[in-house]
Amino acid sequence: MILDSFSLQGKVAIVTGCNTGLGQAIAVGLAGAGCDVIGVNRSCPSETKQSVEQLGRQFVDVRADLSKLDDIPTIIERAVSELGRIDVLVNNAGIIRRNDAIEFSEQDWDEVMNTNSKSVFFLSQAVAKQMITQGDGGKIINIASMLSFQGGIRVPSYTASKSAIMGLTRAMANEWASHNINVNAIAPGYMATNNTDALRADEKRNQEILERIPAGRWGKPEDIAGPCVFLASAASNYVNGYTVAVDGGWLSR
Ligand code: NAP
Repeated sequence: MILDSFSLQGKVAIVTGCNTGLGQAIAVGLAGAGCDVIGVNRSCPSETKQSVEQLGRQFVDVRADLSKLDDIPTIIERAVSELGRIDVLVNNAGIIRRNDAIEFSEQDWDEVMNTNSKSVFFLSQAVAKQMITQGDGGKIINIASMLSFQGGIRVPSYTASKSAIMGLTRAMANEWASHNINVNAIAPGYMATNNTDALRADEKRNQEILERIPAGRWGKPEDIAGPCVFLASAASNYVNGYTVAVDGGWLSR
């Protein structure tokens, strides 16, 4: 049955930044497909934990700050000691800082690059080592952005970090495909989450954005879950290094 290849029954997924927004929908989507979830967050992910457990799956709550690398060994140790293995990593945690490029500070540059790019690379590296030790492959899914493809306005470090994600996705895919590790990315369009509160509150920008989206609406976190399950499953075993846009048609305009 073709649908069996989409099943994640018995798999273990790490999802970063899953207390809210896209990460929450991803964690619940993966659990719905059969995954137990290691949720990596700074804040309490109680709502996500409850939703995952209601689906009959386990949720391990790991608190970590991904603006630095120090917590990465603990994430791997907790995953392996509590759930035995790691099959899927979703690098979702991310931040944004808005200011004119001419005024942009080094702090706003470093904080965004460290969280959105540097930690993504080194967490992926640590997870890939574990997957290689396990010997039966795995799936790494990075959350990119429209600003992996476009320049954006007033978000230079975010654009740099998400452009890096698309390149890193290809680079990691090339080196790890021979270990049956698929590395791919999802580029969400304009999604209604905390990350876009400021944009949606700006009436002019909100209207401009809505008018440009062929689907005529902001994306919902649940819109990301299906593509993520696909990329986490055996159904995508021959998809490597690709960034899938989930954007209501934004990039097709
Ligand atoms: P969100 O609602 O602001 O959620 C961001 C998540 O990242 C939160 O769970 C947050 O946890 C976590 N996080 C941030 N800094 C962290 C750190 N240092 N350590 C650990 N966790 C950290 O944003 P979202 O819209 O769901 O965004 C999720 C991902 O999608 C991000 O990578 C974002 O760039 C990307 N994205 C979003 C959109 C959009 O339109 N919303 C579009 C394209 C891409 P805390 O609450 O604990 O800080």
